[in-house]
Amino acid sequence: MKTLDDLIKHGGGALNGRRVLVRSDLNVPLSDGGVTDDGRIRASLPVLTRLVEAGARVIVAAHLGRPKGAPDPAYSLSPVADRLAQLLGRPVDFALDTVGESERLLATELKDGEVLLLENVRFNAGETSKDDAERHEFARCLGFLTGGEDEGGAFVEDAFGAVHRKHASVYDIAKLLPHYVGDLVRDELAVLTRLTGEPERPYVVVLGGSKVSDKLAVIESLLPTVDRLLVGGGMCFTFLAAQGHEVGDSLLEPDQIENCKRFLDEAGDKIVLPTDIVVARELSADASTQTIPAAEIPAGTKGLDIGPESVAAFAAALAGAQTVFWNGPMGVFELAPFAAGTKGVAEAVAASGGLSVVGGGDSAAAVRALGLDVNAFGHISTGGGASLEFLEGKELPGVAVLEEV
Ligand code: ADP
Ligand code: MG
Repeated sequence: MKTLDDLIKHGGGALNGRRVLVRSDLNVPLSDGGVTDDGRIRASLPVLTRLVEAGARVIVAAHLGRPKGAPDPAYSLSPVADRLAQLLGRPVDFALDTVGESERLLATELKDGEVLLLENVRFNAGETSKDDAERHEFARCLGFLTGGEDEGGAFVEDAFGAVHRKHASVYDIAKLLPHYVGDLVRDELAVLTRLTGEPERPYVVVLGGSKVSDKLAVIESLLPTVDRLLVGGGMCFTFLAAQGHEVGDSLLEPDQIENCKRFLDEAGDKIVLPTDIVVARELSADASTQTIPAAEIPAGTKGLDIGPESVAAFAAALAGAQTVFWNGPMGVFELAPFAAGTKGVAEAVAASGGLSVVGGGDSAAAVRALGLDVNAFGHISTGGGASLEFLEGKELPGVAVLEEV
């Protein structure tokens, strides 16, 4: 895989006159037209800065949310362009479309060291199309913005959060232009590689979040390797149900009960489930809550966080761990009455002393929203799905394609 060092060989001005297309991950949460968590924008700055300083004419492609392959103002990258310019400390031209006439003009008018952000690539159906030809055609249009290989065009893959997708701006584009791995993708892969193979022990994995089905494959592949698997969040109720407990109106995936039973049969001694649960009748910020034993969740109530006894047990399992991977909040941390479990476990993850890796968009957002020190963690991954698929041992199309010459 060629790196940015290979692209920027000769230092300052090395890329003068060349147009470089960068796939960044700028998929951040928005609310009322503003960016509520800019972690991914910040993570994209180092590569953009290096390219700008090398004199490149930088074209940034990115997606936001899941629009249906056509322009949709609710998913415009416009607020992201503003924040990017602010954090980058230089102007960012924002294109109103992806690969139209006006974008071609903007791209050719770029001067050395200038940055152009294209509108959401998912406004074009070709981006995510299952049809190879349709995807390829959109990638060709994106590549055209750089002038192509003959005019010095190049592609830098820096969107770790998207490398598990076989999309035009992630995968097909690398087949058309000389391609380089961005520093963010390189660093993410290096850290996650330390979690596979022979991780330092004890190795503890903490899983939470909303769905067991999302994390089934990762449980399957990690269970043989880990020393302890701590399960909280919405997914713990399917495990509790597998043990024969009633879970009231808590999140439950009945079709996953058999799988959870199998995990408990095969590796019950490694799996730690919560023993107390914070329940409420409704999911709201002013709900009245009760903490009760996990085996006694009454009908008509929902389990929305793990209780203090569980936090203490999870923290004890995490103390002294040499490798920790955490994905998925322990409760509905977005609402204050249900945030304590996630906060307590996050603190224990940070305090574990070994390599601690946080994966998952909501988990990373929780770390920042709950006011925890981001520097206390070894690594906060920008990619949820991508980090899970990597740990499952799946090939990441956006990475595999970079290996091709
Ligand atoms: P990540 O993005 O970190 O991978 P997920 O997307 O799997 O995490 O899950 C995050 C969501 O899970 C959060 O929005 C949180 O509110 C929700 N969640 C956590 N615990 C519960 C629970 N007990 N009941 C319902 N939802 C929950
Ligand atoms: Mg999520």
